[in-house]
Amino acid sequence: MSDCIFCKIIKKELPSYKVYEDENTLAFLDIAPVNHGHSLVVPKEHYQHIEEIPPELLAKVILVVQKVGQSIKKNLASGYNLQLNNDSVAGQVVPHLHFHVIPRHEGDGLKLWSQAEYPEGKAEEVLNKIKIN
Ligand code: AMP
Ligand code: ZN
Repeated sequence: MSDCIFCKIIKKELPSYKVYEDENTLAFLDIAPVNHGHSLVVPKEHYQHIEEIPPELLAKVILVVQKVGQSIKKNLASGYNLQLNNDSVAGQVVPHLHFHVIPRHEGDGLKLWSQAEYPEGKAEEVLNKIKIN
């Protein structure tokens, strides 16, 4: 997509700090990291959402997510969070599918989301809407 910032990075029209590259996938440092080493893993083909990418390509991208996580854990941090912001309502700003790999350190202070409860009957109601089989 011509006006997509990540497509421009993939085509080398914009610079990036490249962590890993192969035929289908690019990983590079997030320019505004949650913690240093925060990386983004993107398919080279433009898809906005995880529902749209062909499964075989998604599998290749996920294997790169695994590689980046392994490198972060071996060389930089004690663990990491994976995050995919899928849709603007979920915080997706760049409309090109990307996995965040966020290095974590003891006491780094990063807070994850708050959690709720199901009122009586609600879990069954929701489950009936989304269950697959
Ligand atoms: P999201 O909110 O999931 O769409 O995340 C987009 C991420 O892309 C943000 O964390 C930004 O800091 C990051 N970002 C935006 N522009 C660039 C860029 N030119 N190079 C690296 N990371 C970028
Ligand atoms: Zn793109």
